[in-house]
Amino acid sequence: MNDRHPDDRRPNTLLITGAGRGIGAATALAAARLGHDIVLNYARDEQAARAVAESIRAMGRRAAVIQADVGRSEDVRRMFAAIDAEAGPLLGLVNNAGITGPIGPFMDTTEATIERVFRVNVLGAMQCAREALTHFRRHGTRGVIVNVSSVAARTGSPGEYVHYAASKAALEAFTLGLAREAAAEGIRVCGVAPGSTLTDIHAAAGEPDRPARVAPRIPLGRLAEPAEIAAAIVWLASPAASYVTGTTLACAGGL
Ligand code: NAP
Repeated sequence: MNDRHPDDRRPNTLLITGAGRGIGAATALAAARLGHDIVLNYARDEQAARAVAESIRAMGRRAAVIQADVGRSEDVRRMFAAIDAEAGPLLGLVNNAGITGPIGPFMDTTEATIERVFRVNVLGAMQCAREALTHFRRHGTRGVIVNVSSVAARTGSPGEYVHYAASKAALEAFTLGLAREAAAEGIRVCGVAPGSTLTDIHAAAGEPDRPARVAPRIPLGRLAEPAEIAAAIVWLASPAASYVTGTTLACAGGL
């Protein structure tokens, strides 16, 4: 199934960073179901990314897998060069790759953790957006960028990861500013701010049981499934959201 209008001659491929697992993998599958070809980026887990790519190919869509640490500018440039050479023009970029660092109070968070989190979540997204804009301009594409923020940008995540919350607030300001800069070219820049979602990110932060701890404070009483966040991301990337730009959509169960 393809939800694109037959007159829509824009490219069809979405680049999704961190697409091997969690929200990124769910977004890749949801977008492929809507008829998109996908470039899946991952950092370390090649096997996971290749498994998602296989599922996409089984749906009859094209899937390419590219390793790149978005926190490294040279990797991001290499990734876009590979896309130009092998995957054809992009319709959009989903800046999904993100990390929290270890859970804990701000005063226990090391400078190295803060630097790494900002490097991946903020500089990485900015660098990918910059390359995507260059790419859209070169191909004359009215492309779309969706930045994956977090409810943390509004709650501040006290006692858990204040530095991460600050990085996502920066990403939301970037989303707004870049959207207003790029709007005259017909390029949209949006965000999705998920609430706590059932992925590996909580174990990676050092608290695998975090979902059970935080569920009671979520008005809907449960964490999100990755597919529920993916649905918001693919909607923002679709022509159905053609008049939405500069907005970060909360998808956080009422928080
Ligand atoms: P996850 O399950 O931990 O998966 C993270 C994905 O990002 C993996 O595919 C990982 O690649 C990739 N990644 C990590 N660092 C990377 C880097 N430097 N360069 C490229 N890829 C990198 O995470 P998730 O929970 O799905 O989170 C996805 C996004 O949603 C993040 O931006 C996160 O901040 C945001 N978010 C998540 C939640 C939640 O509760 N889960 C809530 C709000 C917002 P490898 O597999 O190769 O390691």
